[in-house]
Amino acid sequence: MAIKRVIEGVHLVAMGTANAYLIEGQDGLTLIDAGFPNKEAAVFGALRELGRSPDQLKHLILTHGHPDHIGSAAAIVRETGARTYMHPIDIPLAETGGPFRPMTPAPGLLRQILCRVIYDHNQRLAPVAIDQPLIDGETLNIAGGIVVVHVPGHCAGQVALLWRPGRILFAADVFMNIMGLGDPLGFEDINMGRASQRKLADLSFDAVGFGHGKTVVRDAMRYIRKWKKS
Ligand SMILES: [Zn+2]
Ligand SMILES: [Zn+2]
Repeated sequence: MAIKRVIEGVHLVAMGTANAYLIEGQDGLTLIDAGFPNKEAAVFGALRELGRSPDQLKHLILTHGHPDHIGSAAAIVRETGARTYMHPIDIPLAETGGPFRPMTPAPGLLRQILCRVIYDHNQRLAPVAIDQPLIDGETLNIAGGIVVVHVPGHCAGQVALLWRPGRILFAADVFMNIMGLGDPLGFEDINMGRASQRKLADLSFDAVGFGHGKTVVRDAMRYIRKWKKS
């Protein structure tokens, strides 16, 4: 099984240790994030499982310009023709395919180690052209309404996405939910990252999907709000 149902109309696609999400709308399918490089087969398998053809993937929204979120974007677009979306600050990362911006590991021994092992800012990817820049606060007229929330800190051009009909928040790497809710592996700017964590805690939603780790489908607002960092 390439996919796992999260809530009605939303499926998780495992792209290695990074998550992508498929939203089913009346106007076709929307993919949020594109995983590590060479993971495009997971997306094509997910489309097959849903009984859809590649050309029914209409939109690809990239939450931020890190290799584990845009790695297979070029291959997915080549096969599906999906329209691509990203925050303007990170568009040059996708369109050049790297190098990426350096990150400082988040506090804690585990993240200090993992950040250095997993995040290579000199990595190079197949470049992907971005069709539409995302604007903080706008509602995209996709799948019944997707709200764009700019959440810098981990990555300057990072956005979270709120799918209105399903009241599910896609939190990208503002948090990770591996062994409980916590910081992402690293930050470009930790103070902005903390502000973005608070920004998400102030939104209204029922479910939340993370870039890494388990989704939360009930009482998600409370789950986020009980995690407090000064
Ligand atoms: Zn990231
Ligand atoms: Zn990530």
